[in-house]
Amino acid sequence: MSRKPIIAGNWKMNLLQDEAKALFEGIKNFTKDFTAPQLPEIVIAPVFTSLHVVNEVKCDCGCGGTKIAVAAQNCHWETSGAYTGEVSVEMLKDAGCSHVIIGHSERRQYFSETDEMINKKAKAILAGGLTPIICCGETLEQREAGVTDQHIATQIRAALKDLTEEQISKSVIAYEPIWAIGTGKTCDSVEANRVIAMIRNVVKEVSTTAAGDAIRILYGGSVKPSTIEEQMSQSDIDGALVGGASLKAESFNEIIANTMKVSV
Ligand code: PGA
Repeated sequence: MSRKPIIAGNWKMNLLQDEAKALFEGIKNFTKDFTAPQLPEIVIAPVFTSLHVVNEVKCDCGCGGTKIAVAAQNCHWETSGAYTGEVSVEMLKDAGCSHVIIGHSERRQYFSETDEMINKKAKAILAGGLTPIICCGETLEQREAGVTDQHIATQIRAALKDLTEEQISKSVIAYEPIWAIGTGKTCDSVEANRVIAMIRNVVKEVSTTAAGDAIRILYGGSVKPSTIEEQMSQSDIDGALVGGASLKAESFNEIIANTMKVSV
């Protein structure tokens, strides 16, 4: 089963508008030498206040927006109303987003996002025609206690609850062990692949074999240019959600280039 790889950059709460523009242009300058089929799917998630900036740059590049997709880092599940500080899926679509990252461990940890909220967000994103990138992952304590698989299976079952086979097939999951995020400690590729294969089986259980075979599941957590080839050589890892190394065009472009060496 061949699945198109995805390399996604999560810029988190970083970069002012000019910096976002410069970084996006740095990625665009690299991708312009390739056609969309040669590249992995590239998704960039800036802060809300830079969405318009990257879209302006995106639109003049001549690729028709096919090479670099833009993601938001969060959304609300309601369409509009009295939700101060929140942003709806329709608003994100209006701002040029095609993807939304949900359930990132930083949002679960610092903003008390629950599995139930993540499921509501996934439904709203898919109903709006966008693609959710659903994050899951275990803490170091959970890993040491031997409950990694159980914990992640629970997160995935909850996130995908009541979604149709078609909706699940077009969704993206990112497995991000929390102890590997921003720590420089990448999860061993074989182990990451094992967990991702387990996630794929959970998807097959809650939906269909076809949905489990179709869904793209990424690895995230200290992905670097030096780790991506081994990660992409694994059977079930379909790409990467990159934090720190996505903040410099040089390292992010190298991740894209190294991905193309092994798959696409
Ligand atoms: P990192 O972040 O690559 O800096 O570890 C990944 C993420 O949080 O998505």
